[in-house]
Amino acid sequence: MTGTGLVAGRTAIVTGAARGIGLEIARLLREHGARVVLADRDAEEAAAAAAGLGDEESVWSRACDVTDEAQVDALVTETVERFGALHVMVNNAGITRDASLRKMTTQDFDAVIGVHLRGTWLGVRAASAVMREAGTGSIINISSLSGKSGNPGQTNYSAAKAGIVGLTKAAAKELAHRGVRVNAVQPGLIRTAMTEAMPPDVFAAREADIPMKRAGEPREVAGAVLFLASDLASYMTGAVLEVGGGRLM
Ligand code: NDP
Repeated sequence: MTGTGLVAGRTAIVTGAARGIGLEIARLLREHGARVVLADRDAEEAAAAAAGLGDEESVWSRACDVTDEAQVDALVTETVERFGALHVMVNNAGITRDASLRKMTTQDFDAVIGVHLRGTWLGVRAASAVMREAGTGSIINISSLSGKSGNPGQTNYSAAKAGIVGLTKAAAKELAHRGVRVNAVQPGLIRTAMTEAMPPDVFAAREADIPMKRAGEPREVAGAVLFLASDLASYMTGAVLEVGGGRLM
């Protein structure tokens, strides 16, 4: 490791990095010495987010729709061309299309499965192809406590987030002997645009259910990602870290 910081000298991609949890992950990795690539569906939003994090030697932004195979492959290839390597891949991009089973459309189901499950799988496949050749790397997939407990109104999202856990463990087993670690983080209720869309009374009821009696902040999720990205987690693979204020004990 060169320089200072837990991930100094490493190159990291974060998807869905224009705001919320993804942006805080990119910021914290940057603060700990990584070169970061902020990828998001909207190029301008990704560029605006990247502008606050550092100069072009260390920060780059790219438009990438994680459901698009060619765009995900290009994101990884062009990152390696620009920075010479890829050490950390954070598959974070996400959407919700909540509705009861009675009201959820097939399009709502497919859209959520597409971004979370297909998007994460494409990211894991593309990143691991580079990392296994290098013999080192850390992939972190953002799941959710909904994938563990199931949330009413989120049959699509809960299924996708549970699927990410299975994907993480299978990939971890495939890649462990190649020096590539694959882990997942399961946030609970975190204060972002995604949860601001919830009715205030529902949000308050969810907070009341949390032993710590508050929602989490994006930076508190970023801390777990930084840990998994760093050598502090050098003997961890296939693990699922919960960041939920004790919600599921
Ligand atoms: P936000 O909605 O604040 O941010 C998500 C980002 O992902 C947006 O910039 C969004 O762009 C982008 N995105 C959506 N679809 C795609 C796509 N196809 N390709 C590339 N980028 C895309 O969400 P959060 O920060 O809250 O969530 C981040 C992750 O954490 C998600 O995976 C989410 O499921 C997970 N999570 C969040 C929790 C929470 O309580 N907030 C709890 C548990 C897990 P656009 O604006 O274009 O949609």
